Amino acid sequence: MTSTSTHSTDSVGPLHPAPELLSVVMPAHNEAAGIETAIRTVRGILDAAGLRHEIIVVDDGSRDGTFDRVAAAAQSMSDVVGIRLSRNFGKEAAILAGLRATRGEVVVTMDSDLQHPPTMIPAMVEEWRRGAMVVNAVKRERAVDTVAARARAMIYGWLSKQLGGLDLRNSSDFKLLDKRVVEVVIDLLPERHRLYRGLVQWVGYKQAELLFDVDERVAGETKFSVRALLALAITGVISFTHTPLRIITGLGVLTLLLSVWVAADAVWTWYHGTAVSGFATTIIVELTIGSFIMISLGIVGEYIAKMYDELKRRPTYLVSTRVGPPPGREDPRRPL
Ligand code: UDP
Ligand code: MG
Repeated sequence: MTSTSTHSTDSVGPLHPAPELLSVVMPAHNEAAGIETAIRTVRGILDAAGLRHEIIVVDDGSRDGTFDRVAAAAQSMSDVVGIRLSRNFGKEAAILAGLRATRGEVVVTMDSDLQHPPTMIPAMVEEWRRGAMVVNAVKRERAVDTVAARARAMIYGWLSKQLGGLDLRNSSDFKLLDKRVVEVVIDLLPERHRLYRGLVQWVGYKQAELLFDVDERVAGETKFSVRALLALAITGVISFTHTPLRIITGLGVLTLLLSVWVAADAVWTWYHGTAVSGFATTIIVELTIGSFIMISLGIVGEYIAKMYDELKRRPTYLVSTRVGPPPGREDPRRPL
């Protein structure tokens, strides 16, 4: 692990004393092979740094016995909490469920496969002590990833940047949040379609950045398909910007100008009696405009579908089981 602070506050003494309690939120989906190692590693590092903590593992509908391991850990270690969602709701929902359970003054969210180096947490806490409300761990160039994974990340980042106005390239869900930011994210941003890293960037306040190298997975393999990533990218665009709708309007203006020009040309040639058959041109123009319309309908449809989902107001997740000390806040989606 290497880390560099991108803002220089070294001369300023700490604003806060060390946090009384630090909460770590770890979403886990089919992580049975590595979850115990991850919990023990994180605990070891926090203990060594003298940081009093709780580790909240949210099992996002695993089918490989992840929750049995988490529950066993929660029973034998008083600083571990296990929450099991009623099915697989996705990482975004799992992070939200974890945030709702936190009691700490500061909260760290991280993957449960140790790809986010927990050795960085003490440095993140230092940034918080110097006044940062959010500390973002930003990925350095990805060396361990495959070409396909890098391409996916690039497309995802490019889409969000071009259309969303949010620069999410190399950003990750490995973050430290001040408790007040956690409250904003869970109470004031009630949307169903969530992109955690986008929401945290959106809230603003004083944010610091630390660079990190993505480590190898401790066990298992990635849970994100190209489809899942694309769905997240679409959420990233649709919930943060209306640019795609403006592009449609722009395209409409463009085709209007084009049609005025073509019409003027047609009248001109007709007037001079030199009109020729333009069958191929007509077909091409028809097809081009037809596809513009279809794509535009698709884009509008995406917005409508998202609006419909928000309107239904279904909960983002449901909790089925909970093991460990009582939660920081009462979760409206508590176990049945
Ligand atoms: N994850 C989750 N629910 C899902 C998919 C993933 O909670 O539906 C968790 C997963 O267990 C891991 C984190 O999200 O802790 C990141 O997933 P993964 O390592 O598969 O993603 P990658 O590192 O390839 O981006
Ligand atoms: Mg991973």
